[in-house]
Amino acid sequence: MPSSTSFFVKCPTCGRNLQVRVAYLGKSVACRHCRGKFVASDPSSSDSPNISKILARADELLQSLAVHGE
Ligand SMILES: [Zn+2]
Repeated sequence: MPSSTSFFVKCPTCGRNLQVRVAYLGKSVACRHCRGKFVASDPSSSDSPNISKILARADELLQSLAVHGE
């Protein structure tokens, strides 16, 4: 089962899970259930930068709080 060649995305229109090939990553795809069109994005790759951004912001907030606290 070659799981690396495809991934699952949630259709924003009907909320069902769709299996999308990696070749369609970042491209417009059509949901096979509701035929709604949306851009396929890999959730596993898009989560990591978001988390690191949040962590960086939290770090900045903590540093600014420490500066203002003293
Ligand atoms: Zn759909």
